[in-house]
Amino acid sequence: MSLKCWSISALIVLAAACGGEPPKPATPPAAAVDEARLTAADTDSGNWLSYGRTYDEQRFSPLKQIDAANVAQLGLAWHYDLDAVHRAQESTPLVIDGVMYVTSAWSKVFALDARTGKEIWRFDPKVPGEWGVHACCDVVNRGVAAWKGKLYLGTLDGRLIALDAATGKPAWEVQTTDKNQPYTITAAPRVIKGKVIIGNGGAEMGVRGYISAYDADTGKLVWRFYTVPGDPSKPFETAQLEKAAKTWHGEWWKHGGGGTVWDSVAYDPKLDYLYIGTGNGSPWNQSIRSPGGGDNLYLSSIMALKAETGEYVWHYQTTPGETWDFTATQHLILADITIDGKPRQVIMQAPKNGFFYVLDRVSGELISAKNFATVNWATGIDMKTGRPIENPSSRYGSTGKLWYSLPGPGGAHNWQPMAYSPITGLVYLPVTDIGFPYVPDTKYAPKNQAFNVGIDFAAGSLPEDQTALAQIKASMKGHLAAWNPATQKEVWRAEYPLPWNGGVLATAGNLVFHGTGMGAFSAYQADTGAKLWSVETHTGILAPAMTYSIDGEQYVAVEVGWGGAFGLAAGELARDTHAKANVPRVLAFKLNGKDTMPPAEPMPARPLQTAPDVPKPEAVAQGKIRYARSCGTCHGDSAVSGGVITDLRYSPALADAKVWQSIVHDGAFKDRGMAPFASDLSSEDIELIRGYVIYRAHQQAALEQRAQQK
Ligand code: CA
Repeated sequence: MSLKCWSISALIVLAAACGGEPPKPATPPAAAVDEARLTAADTDSGNWLSYGRTYDEQRFSPLKQIDAANVAQLGLAWHYDLDAVHRAQESTPLVIDGVMYVTSAWSKVFALDARTGKEIWRFDPKVPGEWGVHACCDVVNRGVAAWKGKLYLGTLDGRLIALDAATGKPAWEVQTTDKNQPYTITAAPRVIKGKVIIGNGGAEMGVRGYISAYDADTGKLVWRFYTVPGDPSKPFETAQLEKAAKTWHGEWWKHGGGGTVWDSVAYDPKLDYLYIGTGNGSPWNQSIRSPGGGDNLYLSSIMALKAETGEYVWHYQTTPGETWDFTATQHLILADITIDGKPRQVIMQAPKNGFFYVLDRVSGELISAKNFATVNWATGIDMKTGRPIENPSSRYGSTGKLWYSLPGPGGAHNWQPMAYSPITGLVYLPVTDIGFPYVPDTKYAPKNQAFNVGIDFAAGSLPEDQTALAQIKASMKGHLAAWNPATQKEVWRAEYPLPWNGGVLATAGNLVFHGTGMGAFSAYQADTGAKLWSVETHTGILAPAMTYSIDGEQYVAVEVGWGGAFGLAAGELARDTHAKANVPRVLAFKLNGKDTMPPAEPMPARPLQTAPDVPKPEAVAQGKIRYARSCGTCHGDSAVSGGVITDLRYSPALADAKVWQSIVHDGAFKDRGMAPFASDLSSEDIELIRGYVIYRAHQQAALEQRAQQK
């Protein structure tokens, strides 16, 4: 059937044009998406059929009812409260023929009436709470894919589930990962010619990266592509991996290797190439992972594969010998642009390492690369070799010395999608400017549960001295950049005090929509950067907005909710700059929308418990090391929560060593996401950690007392 058959508005227009009465709109079949429709998604302007809207992942909508002239009249059309789980929300909703399909933390799916926000059905895959410990950067999910009446969901615990789009009932389910390994899925799948493409994460925990294709009808594995070589005593899966193994040293496979394909993919239907971005080394510290160095292919690379078979076509490695968590999993955009007077078919990426890359997507040839943020680990990219010109001091694993790097492991750009407008020719890119002290971990040992990356987080943790802390806070910032990929120049920017902000949407209405971690959702004029409209959402925004139209009315929707890597791990930096209640919600706006924005919710009350006596300084120091190693990446640097999960300094459990043990050692709260740590920490370790948190609780009590006295 042609795509017109599914479009109610097209039917009405057709009937009206023929002079007849418009037919009564019939309910179209749910998620009626096929190859023809996905390939022509750009012309299907009312819908948003796949994660990045189109296979080229431009996140550009041709809708222009809402434009630079009238955007000030934008009002809330409806809102939908996702559920009570206050974790990060990173989903891009799909809208297909009037129905919105959106996901939330813990891999839950919601089908909503896209006109009203009324719930049609919801699906909870019941991810075991204790699996949350394997997620480096919150228990997030970024969305579903649709194909011929089904939706496809990757779950945090590594399952791929096909749902009946009409009912939300599972049709089939497969485990895409080894459950004995700490793999997670947070990305949205894509469907290409009846194959569901799905990768996974876990390179902070010691896994080997790969991406797979499954038959959309049956869930049968069609192909799998490993990004890094495995144990060389066993046969290599491909000749390419045998070659890649020559760029590795030591016993990398025992550490996992990394190179996970945890987020972005793009597809060129004409070339039939699937593009993937690969992640960091596991562990980060190359001196542990591959002593003696080497490029460690195919870490931190942009790669082209044959979509049909998963065979290697070409690769470009952005960060050879990766050692800083500089993933190249960031958003990939395909576009046809004119560079130096010549039309080029390009692929573009702004990976964590701070350089904006433009490659020829047919050949993989590097066309240009330029830093888009402050970068000190390299002075540029050598265009002859395509390699970064490294600052030798940046290899902390070799020097054994602290290296304060810009960018840090959060990246100059993280997962938050950018957008490309073919009208302005600009890429709109959310940039993060925040440094990080890399200190090699001299006591590294492989383990298989929580964050373990060969970095001494205790040595690099935030200062307790308030003046020094204030200086770090003042130095960090973020901005939205409008970047010309043809000239590699910034055209305009919108500055933010907080580095951790949302993904981006561009529209033909000469608009760019962007939300911030502070909760402002704003529209900018795409060509000039003039701020035209803004609304306060009373919580943090990380997800990118999307847009659709129904019955001639354009909507702009965005999921809100705070968290992610920065919200969890950045402690004081995240807490004080965010400082808002965390509310998971979908907001949809239209011109003259009449819904009322729900008011700000109060910050969770944090009465300081009467903390027991502080242990001896040696015990506090030992507890700090253990806290930084096992707890800090979720509960926050130096035991300060960034506003996502429990601030341990205020936990009632702090007062009772037995209760503390029952939670940390035995997993009393595992269903709520707190895994038992018996395999990583002894009871003595756990008691030392309690002592350190008690010490931090006393420090906080003193600060609060001083503030009251002022
Ligand atoms: Ca990583």
